[in-house]
Amino acid sequence: MKIAITGGAGFIGSNLARALTNHPKITQVRVIDNLSTGHKANIADLDIGFVEGDIQNAELLDQVFRGADAVVHLAALPSVPRSVRDPLASHEANATGTLQVLEAARRAGGLHVIAASSSSVYGANPRLPKHEDLITAPMSPYAVTKLATEAYLGAYHHSFDLPVLPFRFFNIYGPGQRADHAYAAVIPKWISATLADEPVTVYGDGTQTRDFTYVGTVCRVLTDALLRRIVEPRPVNLAFGTRISLLDLIPEIETAARHRVRREHMPARTGDVLHSQADSSRLRTLFPTVAPMPLEEGIFATVDWLRDSVVGAAPS
Ligand code: NAD
Repeated sequence: MKIAITGGAGFIGSNLARALTNHPKITQVRVIDNLSTGHKANIADLDIGFVEGDIQNAELLDQVFRGADAVVHLAALPSVPRSVRDPLASHEANATGTLQVLEAARRAGGLHVIAASSSSVYGANPRLPKHEDLITAPMSPYAVTKLATEAYLGAYHHSFDLPVLPFRFFNIYGPGQRADHAYAAVIPKWISATLADEPVTVYGDGTQTRDFTYVGTVCRVLTDALLRRIVEPRPVNLAFGTRISLLDLIPEIETAARHRVRREHMPARTGDVLHSQADSSRLRTLFPTVAPMPLEEGIFATVDWLRDSVVGAAPS
């Protein structure tokens, strides 16, 4: 089986590229990435085809998708605050970019398209857990671009019979997720700060909750979806219904890092949702054999990776 990954030099994409190259049924992996937030070093040791370029470039997409069976579309500008600062850039990369990917998938003969949407589409809807049939209420331009992503997949299924699967990723963490940029996610940011003996920044009072999923678990679901060619035009939450407050993350990090966490509070950020927890029934029906990695184990693996990065092996 031959797989193309957009955004394959990023955090999730490079973990997926690694998992797929180790799979006996996957014979070829090709990645397209413009390296806007990803890094070549993430995939440098992998036996894959890499094309440096933008998903807005139809010719490059045709080159990468030629002969493939499926595409996992992960390329996006992935941050809420970034989209608040520059909504048009997020729209172009995430919404228009998805449309380009879908068009190229059609031109390539009707590839199976699996794409990353986001739990941020639930936004201001306060109901928990988040079931896919809840009314969406995006609170940021980023969330709108992700709603467009999943809606386009559904529309291409209905209009052109394209086999699609839009996932709503919740908060994904694990090795490969870097902390050294302005839009870093909370787990790598807090672990890195703690390893460097610096205080962690808590936006708001820290009682906001998140449903974290280990990146290895996400890759197992994506691999299973590719191999069994799961098609579902409705969005599917990719998280397991676990919920932890940010303050409750602190003891987990302290145990794994063997270091006390010091914290400082800042005002809550615009566009951030307060609580997040997936209803995972649709996911569990489609993927009955996938079990999530427990948070303690995932945090240990993440601390190990970040410790190596901080101590000197940080990929560039
Ligand atoms: P990431 O920034 O590490 O990866 C995104 C990759 O896409 C990067 O390598 C970047 O260089 C590439 N890219 C961006 N714009 C591009 C373009 N126009 N053309 C080609 N490549 C481009 O982020 P990630 O955390 O690995 O996220 C992967 C996907 O999952 C994104 O679509 C993101 O919105 C989604 N997602 C992630 C999370 C999470 O918790 N990490 C949560 C919800 C959704």
